[in-house]
Amino acid sequence: MARYREAQCKLCRREGEKLFLKGSRCYGDKCAFERRAYSPGEHGRTMRRRGSEYALRLREKQKVRRIYGILEKQFRNYFHHAAKEKGVTGANLLRMLECRLDNLTYRLGFAPSRKAARQLVLHRHFMVNERMVSIPSYQVKPGDVMAVREKSKNLDVIHQALREGRAGDLPYLSLDKAHLRGELLEYPKRTDIPLLVQEQLVVELYSK
Ligand code: SF4
Repeated sequence: MARYREAQCKLCRREGEKLFLKGSRCYGDKCAFERRAYSPGEHGRTMRRRGSEYALRLREKQKVRRIYGILEKQFRNYFHHAAKEKGVTGANLLRMLECRLDNLTYRLGFAPSRKAARQLVLHRHFMVNERMVSIPSYQVKPGDVMAVREKSKNLDVIHQALREGRAGDLPYLSLDKAHLRGELLEYPKRTDIPLLVQEQLVVELYSK
């Protein structure tokens, strides 16, 4: 399965803001962006951030893609599906990304980052509606219950992530911490998704 293998922190520095890709490290003074808040590479310090309209849209798309850890081809597929659905394309796109199994397990607090959540899903540590699912992009639907598998309930990484509790309460999720499971209550509304991005710019980029 294809995935991005380069240094995560370079992505934050390239986008000019913290994307919180590395879990607890992102909140401490080891964060690379706190120490070097300029683009990576030889000309990073002098690189202009503001560019053309196209560059602005491209950067916004890259930001969303990198936050959710998705490669270009798959991201474009999400966009095409979002555009075909009723409603606002940008909101549809974010809803689909938000309902990925790896993202929701991260949002529930079972993993310190989306990347770690993806790894946990791939390693078969989660069930959806009592059936094991190992596909990070699996689309969770309202009413679906995501649970840590019985044999994985002692995993340190899960308990530490829950202890750190960075997930926060989201109105579309309910968490049963004692039984290590959570439910998607409804499809997330745009206003409820804690993501500072302008998805309209992504729509404009792909609609050209
Ligand atoms: Fe980004 Fe986290 Fe790396 Fe900081 S530590 S640069 S927020 S990935």
